[in-house]
Amino acid sequence: MNRLIRCINCGEVFLKTPFDQWPEYEFSPDCSPEFSRSIERDDFEDFLKKHCGHRLEDLNIIEDSFVSQKAYIEPIKISYCKATNGREKFVVKKSRERIDEPLKYQLIPGDYSLKCIAIEIQSKEIAKQLEKEFEATPFPQTKIAAFLRLYRNTAETSDLRNLERVPEDSFNPLEIYYKMDEVSLFYLLRNCHNIFKGQEYLDIEEFIFRHKDDGVLLLKATYEIQIIEKGESKRKPASIPIPLEGEKVMEKK
Ligand SMILES: [Zn+2]
Repeated sequence: MNRLIRCINCGEVFLKTPFDQWPEYEFSPDCSPEFSRSIERDDFEDFLKKHCGHRLEDLNIIEDSFVSQKAYIEPIKISYCKATNGREKFVVKKSRERIDEPLKYQLIPGDYSLKCIAIEIQSKEIAKQLEKEFEATPFPQTKIAAFLRLYRNTAETSDLRNLERVPEDSFNPLEIYYKMDEVSLFYLLRNCHNIFKGQEYLDIEEFIFRHKDDGVLLLKATYEIQIIEKGESKRKPASIPIPLEGEKVMEKK
């Protein structure tokens, strides 16, 4: 069981995991697979010694509050989670600069929020898919460019509140994919009549229906982590929560 312990006097925090008391192994310089030496360590013991006589308290980590600037598998990154002692809120910043360094935990009184900073279309992927699917009867490049302009414009004017998140595997936790809403779809189809005629229109219409829910026509929203330190600013964070998959975004600013 993990425990997050805060020293009230120093504002330092310690994450006690079942691994704290495991010996740490070092490999010999010739990379022999045998352990050349092991160092017994007890980090928690060190923490307690350092904060001897100080007031310590347990913090509860808020469920599902983990967020990171890089992919979860990336070893060198900064990630955050929320914690509370029941009265105050904290942001726990977890980081390391080198892969062989232990993780550092920093306690920031306050909260964080996620702000959407961009909604984009997947231009390159759309163009590639159009070329692939219509290899025999390709669209003229000028029409593909016009379609991308139109779709970009549709995406920029669409309201994030109406978009539904899709369970797309994204390597970046701050990039979320959304389906275009009905209004945007209608706008896109109507305006496609200005670019495509006859069979070309029918082809692009089919393409749109084929890829709007899970393919290259998904909209990509990029979020930014904003930390609001307690006492630093009284204003309400300009943010929207990243919704759960299948959920609609309820708030936008
Ligand atoms: Zn202390």
